Amino acid sequence: MEPMRPPAAAQPPRRDYAPIARGIVVLALIALAVGAWLHWSWHQPFMRVPRTVTELSQLPAPSWLPVPVDGVEPDDIADTWGAPRGRDRTHEGVDIFAKRGTPVRSATRGVVLSVRDSGLGGRQVWVLGPGHERHYYAHLDDWAFALAAGDIVQPGSMLGTVGTTGNARGTPPHLHYGIYSAGGALNPVPRLQAAGPSPEDEEPSGADPAPTVIRR
Ligand SMILES: [Zn+2]
Repeated sequence: MEPMRPPAAAQPPRRDYAPIARGIVVLALIALAVGAWLHWSWHQPFMRVPRTVTELSQLPAPSWLPVPVDGVEPDDIADTWGAPRGRDRTHEGVDIFAKRGTPVRSATRGVVLSVRDSGLGGRQVWVLGPGHERHYYAHLDDWAFALAAGDIVQPGSMLGTVGTTGNARGTPPHLHYGIYSAGGALNPVPRLQAAGPSPEDEEPSGADPAPTVIRR
């Protein structure tokens, strides 16, 4: 009679950690590749608009704004903020009078949100500017050539021309300019009439210090 053999599998099998380690390495490489791709694509031209929107949202709202109509001085602008308009409205902006066809330019850097003809504003342009503010340019005679939602504009970029569209029909041509924050409409006049940046403030970042004058 054969002697009884003890059961073979008395001790547990040794765990093989190699597949788990390989899996972790593969996942880490995939994460790295995805991260690198996201970083690369964020800086590609097709991501320029979301990138600009992000940059604008991180900037403070400007404390000073240039007059968005050519040839108009800040002191020429009458502050009609809050003046009654019709039975149940007040004036939520500023009217900047100029000859029909005078260029209207963006007061800020921004992304064009909409270019449309509707309602009281008539031909109008909405621009998302720094600090979550929307800038409203209304009663335009015409829009700048090929201007469209999604365009990125700089201060001074042409948006259109002064006119009388919308409920400005029959009035002297003017731009109605409004600024809207998350909390509602803001009066643009104090910022249009604030002191502009001094030349020293306009030094580009990273510029070399002023060259040393060598006297002989
Ligand atoms: Zn107005």
